[in-house]
Amino acid sequence: MTTTAQRIFNFSAGPAVLPRPVLEEAQRDLVSLPGVGMSILEISHRSRTFEDILARTEADLRTLGNIPGSYKVLFLQGGASLQFSMVPMNLLGSGRTADYIVTGGWAQKAVKEAQRVGTVNVAASTESENFSRIPRQNETTLTPDAAYVHVTTNNTLFGTQWKTVPSVGDVPLVADTSSDMFSRPIDVARYGVIYAGAQKNLGPSGVTLVIIRDDLLARSPKSLPTMLNYAVHAENGSMYNTPPCFGIYLMGLVAKWALAEGGLAKVAERNERKAGKLYREIDRSGFYRGTAAGDSRSMMNVTFRLPDVDLEKSFVKESTAAGLDGLKGHRSVGGMRASIYNAFPEEGVDALVQFMQEFEKKNG
Ligand SMILES: *Cc1c(COP(=O)(O)O)cnc(C)c1O
Repeated sequence: MTTTAQRIFNFSAGPAVLPRPVLEEAQRDLVSLPGVGMSILEISHRSRTFEDILARTEADLRTLGNIPGSYKVLFLQGGASLQFSMVPMNLLGSGRTADYIVTGGWAQKAVKEAQRVGTVNVAASTESENFSRIPRQNETTLTPDAAYVHVTTNNTLFGTQWKTVPSVGDVPLVADTSSDMFSRPIDVARYGVIYAGAQKNLGPSGVTLVIIRDDLLARSPKSLPTMLNYAVHAENGSMYNTPPCFGIYLMGLVAKWALAEGGLAKVAERNERKAGKLYREIDRSGFYRGTAAGDSRSMMNVTFRLPDVDLEKSFVKESTAAGLDGLKGHRSVGGMRASIYNAFPEEGVDALVQFMQEFEKKNG
């Protein structure tokens, strides 16, 4: 049995590992917020205490991501998956086309929802190569005057990641950043909308971060159901209805932690070091084989295969027994996936590298 103090290395793709100091602070203050005498789970969202938590969370996220004042920061529900619908419902408009760059399973789901709303142009897709790489700019056919261009910055299932976002001229770029938000510095001004389910890099499940440029709020049709309207959420400061209070609180603790770590440049440096160690091990001997093309490799989800499926099964079983949890890859790729988000400790990466070397010695 593990006690509450003993933790294993959690390589889960999401919900995923959170910073230990964040969990400890939440635990310490769970029964009573300091000076409040009530839990974050119990207080009114209209209380001064919660208003302060919301304001501080937003302010820290703005500092962390250097988010310009001309963008709203929203805390919504329904996960990134609801954004697959809200984006086209608010931004597409009738008679216009939205461009989607399809780099994986989540992007495909985004396309499917957008097609229910209006006209979609798949501007590029690497499906024929099982999404093993990010398309090049010259493979991308953008619609002049598209309503927006949608990209998925990190492809959680396939272990690929955009190194720099595509050039889209004046057309608003909409990005699903669910699995790499705040894993590296982000130039928010290059985007129209950025959204992310929190449960990979930002906090617990149940809250979705949406960053939207002010001028785009004018596009939301008045006929939309109220809860699906970005402009309503923006006008009400994410408080049109009861917001996901606990998720916002925890996201605030995660933002505070990332700032204390030195901000996104430092966070990125550590993420690169962590991923570098794994990719070096994958490339070292030929026993392991990375599934993503070299120039498209993700710093967040490191995907690799072994010489055969039986060895992969043993790897999963033995690594789990060794306290390395969640390494089984998504079925669309097979093999292994090590998800090493911001909060994943470097010692866990070192432990996996050592496990990989021992496993290869026994079985190679
Ligand atoms: C996990 C994930 C989603 C789905 O998020 P939900 O919050 O479960 O809806 C969407 N996009 C990407 C890139 C993801 O990694």
